[in-house]
Amino acid sequence: MKSPAVVKRIFDALDRHHPGADTELVYRNPFELLVATMLSAQSTDARVNLVTPALFARFPDAKAIAGADTGELEILIHATGFFRQKSKSLIGMSSLLLSEHKGTVPASMDALTALPGVGRKTANVVLGHALGVPGLPVDRHVLRVSNRIGLVRSEDPVKVEAELCSMLPPARWTRASDTLILHGRRICRPAPLCPRCNVRNDCDYFRTGGATKLIKKGASKAKRARR
Ligand code: SF4
Repeated sequence: MKSPAVVKRIFDALDRHHPGADTELVYRNPFELLVATMLSAQSTDARVNLVTPALFARFPDAKAIAGADTGELEILIHATGFFRQKSKSLIGMSSLLLSEHKGTVPASMDALTALPGVGRKTANVVLGHALGVPGLPVDRHVLRVSNRIGLVRSEDPVKVEAELCSMLPPARWTRASDTLILHGRRICRPAPLCPRCNVRNDCDYFRTGGATKLIKKGASKAKRARR
């Protein structure tokens, strides 16, 4: 386990590494971020950002999506993948928002996760970025990076969220998630770019030679493929 001083040093370094880290989804209000985050499952933020302008021009709010024709909605979100399930979730989520919350996105984890198709990760994205409620979304990048550095020892997103939250003041939660996500996308990829990483001196994976083992594994795999 890292000491509080080391945890602070790591997140300060990640902040410097990725200044201005934020969600890459484009949105104008909490409802748009909720929809965009739901669409980003098994997709990319860039792909979602291509789809949402036309989607929100046609269906701007919960009332509009709740009453949408499923076929038309499926066509608009088709490029994000899993469009049938996503369309069903969007209509279900919007209908419940309308009946239970007058069409407004609630600023509460329990109320958000009661909506169809909304899990803790999506709820935390919306709470932290659009509703001013601290939230720490845990995705595959957060899991990989925080485990490699040695901040946590778990692949359970709920446990990792609780552990990371316990190490940081609430005001840092959302930014911490954003920086870990960007770090996972740009530097600490599945094949990590450790020489470019400014937290390597505090990283367990680096200090125990994980990167070297990965390079050797890749080299022997390439050698076998050449045979
Ligand atoms: S040193 Fe390597 S493994 Fe550790 S966080 Fe940086 S990129 Fe990831």
